[in-house]
Amino acid sequence: MTMKIKADLVETLGIEASNAQPNECCGILFGENETITHIQPTQNVHPAPATHFEIEPAALIAAHKAEREGGPKIVGYYHSHPKGPPEPSRTDQASAAGDGKIWAIIGRGEIRFWLDQPDGFKPLSYSVTDP
Ligand SMILES: [Zn+2]
Repeated sequence: MTMKIKADLVETLGIEASNAQPNECCGILFGENETITHIQPTQNVHPAPATHFEIEPAALIAAHKAEREGGPKIVGYYHSHPKGPPEPSRTDQASAAGDGKIWAIIGRGEIRFWLDQPDGFKPLSYSVTDP
């Protein structure tokens, strides 16, 4: 499977990551089928935000409620690694739900996408589309 994401969203994710330095940024990815159509930045409420992330629970609950009411579909989440590569860390692997959601990780100026599978994260290829 190859995912699609618009060029302006790729740019926004990069900006979110650099604005959050030295902490991790995080947020929610919305889309349809294999296309990410928009993102929602949220606060990182983890007590150790330089090395961990926790999406603000109220924002996540609101997004789920909106989805149930016919709003945009939550396809995954994103966060950044201020000092590491854009690959799932041990912490990420430990906190993964294995629910088939997409995880976008931004690190070292690069964004990579991963599929949270029951047997671990699988790399996802993606293509950038015009806005
Ligand atoms: Zn991580």
